[in-house]
Amino acid sequence: MTTQANVDPVEVAKFEALATSWWDTEGESKPLHDLNPIRLGYIQQRCQLNDKHVIDIGCGGGILSEALAKNGAQVTGIDMGKMPLDIAKLHALEAELIIDYQQITAEQKAEQSAEQFDVVTCMEMLEHVPDPVSIIQACSDLVKPGGDLFFSTLNRHPKAYLLAVLGAEYIMKMLPKGTHDYKRFIRPSEMAAWCRQAGLEVRDITGMSYNPINKTFKLSDDVKVNYLMHCRKALD
Ligand code: SAH
Repeated sequence: MTTQANVDPVEVAKFEALATSWWDTEGESKPLHDLNPIRLGYIQQRCQLNDKHVIDIGCGGGILSEALAKNGAQVTGIDMGKMPLDIAKLHALEAELIIDYQQITAEQKAEQSAEQFDVVTCMEMLEHVPDPVSIIQACSDLVKPGGDLFFSTLNRHPKAYLLAVLGAEYIMKMLPKGTHDYKRFIRPSEMAAWCRQAGLEVRDITGMSYNPINKTFKLSDDVKVNYLMHCRKALD
């Protein structure tokens, strides 16, 4: 597969359409805003961000990228959506944050900047690409030996179909219908195997559970819907 082929234009178009409301915390990106504090907390529990070079893969409008920058990291954000990146650039300008946003694939960036980053984040993106294994390999190539990687995605488990697809898209209408394709969800065991194949040590898997009553996410032992994975690249 060529590097450019690992971009599904239908998937990227979904996020182009969402771009103008990306920073509306009550809009269609609300789940990303609600997830952000706990995924940032998870990263901070597991690595230092201050002055670290961090690359955020599939950064979209920059919700996680900005949080990383506010906590002292020097952030590069890459995505293949033009509109989300335009919104990300404008928002960073308004927030007076310096973030290097680029429209480039993970695979191309890995060819350009191998082992340049202390930390790689890739959140809520792997379930939108044709070949997630290739993205994980690119993430591994981008991080320095001994560096940390953080992934999050949705589990291909019936509970995720019920809550993340039927619940979030059809019943609660938190997300536009068709945002997620269940077939592309990834089981934690698959993710862990792909990470190991890419030369990474899997250090932790933690669930993120949504409470529809108070409308917040929390870290949890239940990995059946959303989950985070922390990996580390071996030292040479
Ligand atoms: N990581 C961000 C945004 C998640 S939305 C966050 O969690 O806040 C998924 C993002 O992945 C979208 O911005 C979409 O444009 C991007 N994306 C989808 N396929 C991609 C690909 N092949 N390469 C780069 N970005 C991609």
